[in-house]
Amino acid sequence: MNCDELLKALNSYVDGEVDPEICTEFAAHLAGCNPCQVVVDNIRQTITLYRNGQPYPLPPEFHRRLHDVLRAKWQEKFGSSAEPAR
Ligand SMILES: [Zn+2]
Repeated sequence: MNCDELLKALNSYVDGEVDPEICTEFAAHLAGCNPCQVVVDNIRQTITLYRNGQPYPLPPEFHRRLHDVLRAKWQEKFGSSAEPAR
């Protein structure tokens, strides 16, 4: 799994629908990728805050905002090289 794949897997992660196989790869990538650790940590905090205030499932608006945050974080960390592999 690379950073781009992890970002995609995060969508499922946020939905609580990560299958165990992906979870393993997810954790393996995270263990060796500090920028991804920062992003996932940030998302965990956001989800926790949201869960405390509102019931699941997450609304589309939340997803959109989350993706904006992710994109900003990625550009912060990786700059223009954050483009997905062609
Ligand atoms: Zn990464």
